[in-house]
Amino acid sequence: MQKFKFNHTTFIDNVFGICPECKEKAFLVAIIQDYYRCTNCGEDTKQYVNGHIKYLKLNDIDKDYIKKHGTKSSDR
Ligand SMILES: [Zn+2]
Repeated sequence: MQKFKFNHTTFIDNVFGICPECKEKAFLVAIIQDYYRCTNCGEDTKQYVNGHIKYLKLNDIDKDYIKKHGTKSSDR
């Protein structure tokens, strides 16, 4: 599992990226490893690393995964 190289201890739980939902640059907060929630619009996204990092909209499988594994800050 590739993570940011400048963090060698644990995975980053707060990253700056372009949200696929609102198309804005926003802080994305990790809810589970590889799954992030946009602080701008509140939608969940999935981190996808393929040479560079992208954030994807979630499909039903992803949403189910988050439900099963819980979130640190679930308020929905
Ligand atoms: Zn957003």
